Amino acid sequence: MASDPSSDRLDQLERANAQLHAQLQELREIIDRTRVGGFRSIRDSRRCPACGSGALLHVRRAQEVGYGGLKDLAIAHESSVWKGAVPRGPMESFVCRGCGLVEFHVTDFSDVPVDGTDIVAIEPEPDVPSGGPFR
Ligand SMILES: [Zn+2]
Repeated sequence: MASDPSSDRLDQLERANAQLHAQLQELREIIDRTRVGGFRSIRDSRRCPACGSGALLHVRRAQEVGYGGLKDLAIAHESSVWKGAVPRGPMESFVCRGCGLVEFHVTDFSDVPVDGTDIVAIEPEPDVPSGGPFR
């Protein structure tokens, strides 16, 4: 029984397409691991910058053990007579299940005590003009 030439051609094209998809995925993984000119966080890329794994944990409310039980993990704490240490600037974390890398992000800056001594705000540098006499 002779094979159908159009069916053979379709099979060849499907195999070539599957190979191209596999190569594209490999290239994406290489780009994610070797990206130059900027660090991409786990939160933004959904991929570990250390090992390239996409198997992650998102801990939406990172906590720690303190007096009186669990407290939100935060970048600062204020002391309260009634409540003890009150977390300011709560954090979330992303954890790579491949290599264990942990990344933290503050989820709310609104109550962070920026006092200029212990916590200092750093503002972005102004952009350098690309033209004009001060190049
Ligand atoms: Zn990893």
